[in-house]
Amino acid sequence: MRILTFKFIRDVLSRYYERAEIEDVPKIGMREFAFFIPDLKEGDIVERHISFTDVEELRKYLIDKTPRDAYYSAAYYLEPTLEMDRKNLVEADLIFDIDADHLEVEKEEIFVCTRCGVKESSGDRCDDCGGELRKITWITPTMLKKASEETYKLVEILSNDFGIPYNELEIYFSGHRGYHVRVTTEWVRKMTQPERKEIVDYLICRGIDVERHGIKFRGDIFQDPGGGWGRRIFNGLKRIIEIGEYRNFDFLSDNDKKRIEINKERILMEIGEKGFSLLRKCLDRGKFMKIIEKSIEVSRVHLDPVVTQDMHRLFRLPGSVHGKIGLIKVRVKDVDELRSFDPFEWALLPFREEGKFRVYYSPRFNAGGDTYGPYQNEVVSLPICVGTILVFKGLAEVERK
Ligand SMILES: [Zn+2]
Repeated sequence: MRILTFKFIRDVLSRYYERAEIEDVPKIGMREFAFFIPDLKEGDIVERHISFTDVEELRKYLIDKTPRDAYYSAAYYLEPTLEMDRKNLVEADLIFDIDADHLEVEKEEIFVCTRCGVKESSGDRCDDCGGELRKITWITPTMLKKASEETYKLVEILSNDFGIPYNELEIYFSGHRGYHVRVTTEWVRKMTQPERKEIVDYLICRGIDVERHGIKFRGDIFQDPGGGWGRRIFNGLKRIIEIGEYRNFDFLSDNDKKRIEINKERILMEIGEKGFSLLRKCLDRGKFMKIIEKSIEVSRVHLDPVVTQDMHRLFRLPGSVHGKIGLIKVRVKDVDELRSFDPFEWALLPFREEGKFRVYYSPRFNAGGDTYGPYQNEVVSLPICVGTILVFKGLAEVERK
């Protein structure tokens, strides 16, 4: 990284934190803070076991040290500044992490030569000039949509099955490729690690016994599965038949598929009202259970189990900048806003004035209502909030005016 770019990053972060909306940190004095501080020689330096008495003291630190990433503990400690085993954990917020990188969705990976800007599909060295290739994962609207769908599933279950009201579910755009959900309600904070693991198991359907949810291969009397997983698996199954997803399942023979196809309308009518005796007649037990597994797979929540189970986990500071892309971790008001949330519109840094950047490579993308790129090894004038994205992604350097 050029020294000019390094100074630019520090300047942008410092100016941002002077005016940033940093929301209240509940019981701030009991939290451990941790930061990645940019350093020209060392890369990033970790500073942790730090504590603040109020948000303004935290703000002063952010303006002065300009961390690339800022976090605080989900846990509340008696001694947040001491070593891990001496901190004395009291309780912890319940947090969830949904990251598009862990979801089954097509990712746009690009390998960019930082010398000549050529884009390759793989490898370590540039074919043209022998320069080093840097692997970049670009965020696509499809990835973000997938992440928001998972988040929607998560809040729906937390609300309907666990009785946590929607207004107690705090949803955040993570600042990069996904969403965080947090609950700070008192009874939730008191939950132990094994209890958190049980919640995770429930959400990801680990070890689920479908028969206990009213889904049986034998038996003529249909039981309405009611709410919960029975209903979700039931609905998932209906969707699989409705949109013809079963045609892609290689465990079904052509004859199985044909039988489902011929009876499709009747199967759907039955699933809607009476169960699935007709679908069972089309398949043997093994295949029927495999279709149920597919339904579980689309219905369960694809979250990072470790984040929720580990009470000592760090939570990215709301309102802070994400060091991998230069977007802000912002609060998403509610599930309706989640549906239409566009980070390249809502999570941009508040700097619209233009600056000059040498861009190695950038795909075409939308930000702040305008379209940018594609660029290849060229100097372009860009709004600071857009140029920052490319700089933080390692795709551009700052150019002298
Ligand atoms: Zn090259």
